[in-house]
Amino acid sequence: MAFQLPELGYAYDALEPNIDARTMEIHHSKHHNGYTTKLNGAIAGSDLEGKSIEDILDNLDMSNAGVRNNGGGFYNHSLFWSVMNPNDKGEISGDLKNAIEAEFGSEEAFKDAFSKAAATQFGSGWAWLCVHEGGKVEVCATPNQDNPLMPGVTCGGTPILGLDVWEHAYYLNYQNRRPDYITAFFNVINWNEVSKRYAAAK
Ligand code: MN
Repeated sequence: MAFQLPELGYAYDALEPNIDARTMEIHHSKHHNGYTTKLNGAIAGSDLEGKSIEDILDNLDMSNAGVRNNGGGFYNHSLFWSVMNPNDKGEISGDLKNAIEAEFGSEEAFKDAFSKAAATQFGSGWAWLCVHEGGKVEVCATPNQDNPLMPGVTCGGTPILGLDVWEHAYYLNYQNRRPDYITAFFNVINWNEVSKRYAAAK
């Protein structure tokens, strides 16, 4: 079964005014759709066909640019859509809150660290909150469509929150003001989903 473009779970305009509808529509229906189609093309007829995306990325040959870029793009955007929701922002679970406080001192300090990672990623890439076995959390950033599941990539661990800082993610509404987009992202994070992913990954 080929990979399918996942549905957002909310309308393109649901994240307004934090993320505008036109950006969401192009981002999902063009960019993410493109990564999905190209990933299917890149694995067609190979021994990667039929494997889960996590399995493919965990064991990725990093010199395989087609799978690295498009498998990363497929996975990263699927995670990104799921950790946003204006209607179900929820709460950070006690477990995740404890892990964040243990690592950063406070939720506010975590927000600063994550925002800095997102703001200082040069060019295109992603900022991440990752979980290591045992529950320790870490913030990092990766270039292009790399992510912490891939071998040898910064952070390691399992990503449970990701922010796309490619210009295609914000330029229509924010132009060069990436920091404003990062601030707005915190208004639409679905903490129930992030907490659920933390519990599953630790
Ligand atoms: Mn993107």
